[in-house]
Formats: sequence, C-alpha cells, structure tokens
Amino acid sequence: MISRRENGVPFFEFPNLASLPGIRHGVFTRKGGASLGPYAALNVGQSLGDRPEAVASNRERVSRCLGNLRLAFIRQVHGTDVVVLKNGAPEVADPDTLPAADAMVTDIPRTGLVIQTADCQAVMLYDPRQRVAANVHSGWRGSIRNIIGKTVGAMTSRFRCDPRDIRAGIGPSLGPCCAEFIHYRNEIPREFWKYKGENRHFDFWSASRDQLLNAGVPEEHIFTSRLCTRCRTDLFFSYRGEHATGRLAMVIGLG
Ligand SMILES: [Zn+2]
Repeated sequence: MISRRENGVPFFEFPNLASLPGIRHGVFTRKGGASLGPYAALNVGQSLGDRPEAVASNRERVSRCLGNLRLAFIRQVHGTDVVVLKNGAPEVADPDTLPAADAMVTDIPRTGLVIQTADCQAVMLYDPRQRVAANVHSGWRGSIRNIIGKTVGAMTSRFRCDPRDIRAGIGPSLGPCCAEFIHYRNEIPREFWKYKGENRHFDFWSASRDQLLNAGVPEEHIFTSRLCTRCRTDLFFSYRGEHATGRLAMVIGLG
C-alpha cells in the first residue's frame, strides 16, 4: 500500500489504482480525525454513539483529502443490492437519501463512493476504459452471496465494462489470522470451506480474489492490502477487536 498524507490526515492508496489517471481513492485509517474515546479519531459512522459534529468534521476531512469529492453514502445492511448512480439518468435521485445497499457503481465525476468498515472488506473497482468506479462492502454475509461478482455484473451490464479492464483493490479487513467462525458449519456454505485454515479461521481475502477472478478480472489487476484490522487496532477500527468502535472511510470516485 502507498502511504499518503493530506492536511495532516494519513491514508493509503492501492498501488494498482494510484498509478491510473482519472480517479481519486483513499483507504483511510482511524488517525487524523476529531472523534474521541472508542471513536478516535477519524470515525465516519453515524448512529454509533459518536458526536455528530465530530463525524461531520471527519467526513469533511476525508472529502478534502480527495480534492473535495462529494461523498455518497449507503445504508449498509450486509445484503447484495447494488446502487447504480448513472450519469444523465440517476437511478437514485439523491444519494443522500441513503438507500439500503452494499455496493455502489457510478460514472458520475466527482462523486466519492464511501464504504464504511470495521473488519469487513471494502473492495474498490475501477474500469479506466469506460471510466466507471465501484465500491463494495463485502463482509462474510456479502461474501458468501458473492456481492463482488454481482457488482462486476452491474458494471458490465449497465456500463458496458469489460471485466478484463477492471482493476480491483481489497482493503484492510479481518485477515485469516483473526476471521474465526465458531459456528461455520451453520453460517458458511460448504463451498467456502476450502478457505478454512487451521482451527476455524477463514481466508476471505482469497475468497474475494477468487470471486474477482471468476467474474473475469485478471489476476494481475487485483491487489490485496493484506492488512488485518483486528491485528492493527493502532491503525484501524475493528468490531471484533473492540466492539464499541468507529467506522473507517474507504472511498473511490472519478476525479
Ligand atoms: Zn489478524
């Protein structure tokens, strides 16, 4: 991951996305924000108990780091609905109405698609040929229902993207070191058991990579950050590690 800093706020970039013109993206950490206590410091999640003024200030800081992109949020519900924001014919009139969904796709410039995480994966996608960006919230529930494949499908069917052009970044999230599923026999479908390592730990980084490959994204276009949120609570919010905690901002938009 590439380390960046703007206005005193540190963030990471995926090397395979940072090298492309036409987009801005940021994998933000918990550092550089206004929140206190368990939300310290760059919490962008509302309704978690943090002060609304602090959250608003943090969202503004995130936007400023990315050239003042207008941030679009969704109400993440661990489902597989994909919101399409299409230039000229917006299917969601106002992104601020917060549709319940777990992925966003857009070709609208200067719109920053925000996925909020605290252990779940944000998977950022960009097609530099059609100039289409997407951001996916893939926790284990979204993973076992392949929201990644569904989002690539929305890019191809709605924006004529060729999966072979798509670049992908898999963000900091629960790693195979910490993704323990005690009740995996009831929760995780059998076809995912090949991602189970020792004990009851699962490698959802590899699962996401395979879902991208199956959707037609070339291996050399996929970058996995391999940063575990629970191992690195100095840098990231982790629901499993801390329970009461904030939400990280994972943002991509057409610059
Ligand atoms: Zn870990």
